[in-house]
Amino acid sequence: MTRPQPTRRPTDATYLDDADRVDPPTELLNIPWIDAHNHAHTLSWADRERYALSGCEGMIMVSSGYHWTPYKPVRAEDIRYLWDDAVNRRAAIERDHFFEAKLGLGIHTGVRIENPDDLLDAMADYCELDEVVTIGETGVTPAQHAEAWDLDEQRAVVEAQMALAADHDLPVILHTPNTGTDSKREYVRPPGGTPGYEKNTGLGQEPVITGENPHLEAVKIDVAAANDAGLPEERVVASHADPNNIEYVMEETDCYASFTIGHSWLVGVDAADVANAIDRWGPDRIMVDTDCANVLRTDPFALKRAIFELYRYGIDPADIRQVVWENPRDVFGIGE
Ligand SMILES: [Zn+2]
Repeated sequence: MTRPQPTRRPTDATYLDDADRVDPPTELLNIPWIDAHNHAHTLSWADRERYALSGCEGMIMVSSGYHWTPYKPVRAEDIRYLWDDAVNRRAAIERDHFFEAKLGLGIHTGVRIENPDDLLDAMADYCELDEVVTIGETGVTPAQHAEAWDLDEQRAVVEAQMALAADHDLPVILHTPNTGTDSKREYVRPPGGTPGYEKNTGLGQEPVITGENPHLEAVKIDVAAANDAGLPEERVVASHADPNNIEYVMEETDCYASFTIGHSWLVGVDAADVANAIDRWGPDRIMVDTDCANVLRTDPFALKRAIFELYRYGIDPADIRQVVWENPRDVFGIGE
């Protein structure tokens, strides 16, 4: 049948044939999603509203960031304050924005903490709180900022947290160290790096993990620590998955891999990496998170955008749903 052509001259629409007509996957507009790792308690009200407006049903707000403490050296009481701050804000965030907001509390190893045993002693009571659904982010770090931390001491702190997680039947979010990409330029203006947060290379210390691939070595040390602590690998979520560690995580462990896509400008990981991983290993142990935080340029819409990107890259809507909703729901027990 010839299409009527009321337009003055032919437009692109004139040349559409049946093969060009798509059946839009409208379910993508409403897929519920959980951000498995962010720091939304440090964001603005408006940024958290962006999560709600774009369909976020739940999130894990991680409170372990040493880079929020105003003092150096960092003491246990400084980290404890961060935990308490998150506990204090959480209910209001749920009330204001309607998504389920749960907490991850942990001891990050990005800077040495003077008396970590005080934190470990206190942590068991925090694990009893209903709103604490995971421990983390934690995991050994190849090189610290401001003050180096001996690897054996780091590992002991990580393993102790994993033992607590096993005791309390909680999962652990690992901060697997990113390698970034070779193609990007670094900021070089003084004082070197982006001021005031963990990527400030001006405060970087000599590495405590050396060798050919210290970033991957760190992940392997963490997985060994989980095994030693009696924490099943399927209770470990390796956040900041990247091309340097994904093959190891998928093929040599039972851990989940979560791709951090909220600051792709910094680390180079985006939805294409997620799609590649789903193609290769299936969706069963893959998640996506934003890591949005007030200390760097991050995008609260990143996860919703990734849903559309994954579809454009050819991923099946059912697999997208599993990755952004079912997997984090099942591991963290939220959104049920
Ligand atoms: Zn984080």
